[in-house]
Amino acid sequence: MRDLVIIGSGPAGLSAAIYAKRAMMDVVVMEKAAFSGGQIVNTEKVDNYLGMPGISGFDMAMKFREHADLFEIEFDDREVMSLEDHGDHKTISLEDGTDLDTRAVLVTTGARHRNLGVPGEEEFAGAGVSYCATCDGAFFRNKEVAVVGGGNIALEDALYLSKMCSKVHLIHRRDEFRGEKILGAQVLETPNIEFHPFAKVTEIGGKPGSLELKIAEQVNGTPEEHMLLVSGMFIAVGTVPLTDFIEGIVELDEAGYVKAGETGQTSVPGIFAAGDVRTKNVRQVATAVGDGAAVIHYVEEYLNRLLK
Ligand code: NAP
Repeated sequence: MRDLVIIGSGPAGLSAAIYAKRAMMDVVVMEKAAFSGGQIVNTEKVDNYLGMPGISGFDMAMKFREHADLFEIEFDDREVMSLEDHGDHKTISLEDGTDLDTRAVLVTTGARHRNLGVPGEEEFAGAGVSYCATCDGAFFRNKEVAVVGGGNIALEDALYLSKMCSKVHLIHRRDEFRGEKILGAQVLETPNIEFHPFAKVTEIGGKPGSLELKIAEQVNGTPEEHMLLVSGMFIAVGTVPLTDFIEGIVELDEAGYVKAGETGQTSVPGIFAAGDVRTKNVRQVATAVGDGAAVIHYVEEYLNRLLK
């Protein structure tokens, strides 16, 4: 039986894995994605992680993984389907029908992008509508595109796309950004970014390469509807936690995040959560790495009590 199974290989999972290995735990990291790193793999540039100014998300993920490999941490690419609590051990069911027994589990599955939920979104996903500017931006070189959202990701996407696209329309439902002030200021200073405050995309039509976005906008306080023609559209309206496989096992909040404080302890003894997937106010690479490091202290305490 394993001491600890870590589910997810983003910054929280990899940080926890290094601490667990150094604490001499028998640990394995479940990583269903093709790359370690989680959401940062799709981030063009990370400018606020200590000691790595301006690093690309992909390079950062590679560095994190190289660090984990130095400690010879074991990875398993099978998808986790469900989790059962048996008190002193937990059973994890995998996609190939096999089970994995472990004394403790650490959930670090993070989050995935949120859909906008408007007509045409599903139809044009991958055919003009994208959720990843760093992955798909180059398809729209010298073209006009739209970005929807007002958080860090939308602001970063708008800035990234402004370097290669002829024009970027930033469509946000409010006039204030949720993202960092410094990014908001850069966006407003960039000549080929047009900011559309109090605006919503209500429908996506047209054809691949030539999208017709129906926009509901407030102009001088008066509601107006108009069409915006763009080649591509990037949706960056936040994330939703990846917790399907533990629904009904541990307590989740109303948005689906695992209820856990700084100790990572969930409502079930021996099941821990760290990083973006747990209830917290600040979801950054730095806070995920910190979570991963701290939680192992409490996992160790739990294992010591269990094995006494
Ligand atoms: P976010 O901060 O939650 O922002 C989501 C944005 O989408 C908000 O502006 C929100 O509008 C808008 N939105 C949500 N639902 C919408 C809808 N149905 N229609 C239109 N607009 C909608 O999400 P994010 O930008 O994806 O960032 C996710 C997390 O990653 C954040 O905690 C962020 O700080 C973090 N992050 C960290 C780093 C790093 O560590 N360096 C880098 C990037 C991001 P309202 O503002 O009106 O709610």
